[in-house]
Amino acid sequence: MQYPGELHEAFAALDRLPRVRLAGTVTPLETMRNLSARAGGAALVVKRDDLTPLAMGGNKVRQLEFILGDAMAKRADTVLITGAVQSNYVRLAAAASRRLGLSCHVQLEARVDRDDPAYRESGNVLLDRLLGATIHRYHDGEDEAGADRRLDEIAAGLADEGRRPYVIHLGQGHPSLGALGYVDAARELVGQVESVGLDVSRVVTASGSGATHAGLLFGLRLLGVPTPVAGACVRRDAERQRARIAAHCDSLSQLLGVDNPVKDGDIVTDDRFFAPGYGLAGEAAREAIRLAAHAEGLIVDPVYTAKSLALAIDAARATSAGGAVLFLHTGGVPAIFAYPDDVLAAVGNDGQAGHR
Ligand SMILES: *Cc1c(COP(=O)(O)O)cnc(C)c1O
Repeated sequence: MQYPGELHEAFAALDRLPRVRLAGTVTPLETMRNLSARAGGAALVVKRDDLTPLAMGGNKVRQLEFILGDAMAKRADTVLITGAVQSNYVRLAAAASRRLGLSCHVQLEARVDRDDPAYRESGNVLLDRLLGATIHRYHDGEDEAGADRRLDEIAAGLADEGRRPYVIHLGQGHPSLGALGYVDAARELVGQVESVGLDVSRVVTASGSGATHAGLLFGLRLLGVPTPVAGACVRRDAERQRARIAAHCDSLSQLLGVDNPVKDGDIVTDDRFFAPGYGLAGEAAREAIRLAAHAEGLIVDPVYTAKSLALAIDAARATSAGGAVLFLHTGGVPAIFAYPDDVLAAVGNDGQAGHR
């Protein structure tokens, strides 16, 4: 594919960065005919980044290609990562570390006020154990900076023992290497959408750390594609999330050596489906879980993709004319086993009253 001028420069720069291959080929793009009919309004299509080919998949696979590329370039032998107890990122970092022959330490933060056995030990935690990651627990709740500091302390201890640790920080102030995976995904998506002749009016993704949202937005604008990219807030309110996305975009322009193509007014964050908070599903999220399962046989998770699908459905209802709404399925499927109550509550009201 040929790109003019600075565009070419940006993708040439991307292609020169250290990278490991984990994500494989193009993820599927599927029309959700039944769900679209039930939602009413514009067509809904889904890009299946829940099917990236590593340890049950998800968006972090694309992000880890560049993060662990950096780790390998720095000759690290041990990866450290922090996340919520049911973090998909942690699970995929543990899996990717195995693939690359690295050790992995994971820190699980008590961000969600739950301590039942399913939440503590099933879902992603079971997979972390299966993958043989060394597990640390961080008990102080929602404290991004503190969790990163604790991780740095563990890394320092490992370095004292002669290891070569590589820390994946979750807080701000670090280069947005993970977002590069979604700049590349934007290139993939544009080619895919063109090849099937699909008209997309809006892209909807979950927006947590913001790496996925920022990378996609930045990549689309680099390619001259003006389609709005709406981020469903899952971690903080819309205003604070917008600042996160802007910071990631600044970092991306530095990493790629190009002007930032994303204007401030172009960052769309939406927190209407965020409540009651991180890791907790509200009414619309539960409806999205049920609709996806019953209309399409598609599994979405209560932490991330139920909220972004709720936003995609809302967008489809609001735009009856024009192009399709593209829902990026970012994964999270293993987490449903840690949230049996939410999943059952989602289908519990599935009597006549719940059906559209
Ligand atoms: C991490 C995660 C997100 C959020 O992605 P960010 O790049 O951190 O914004 C969305 N969905 C799932 C399933 C995730 O695991």
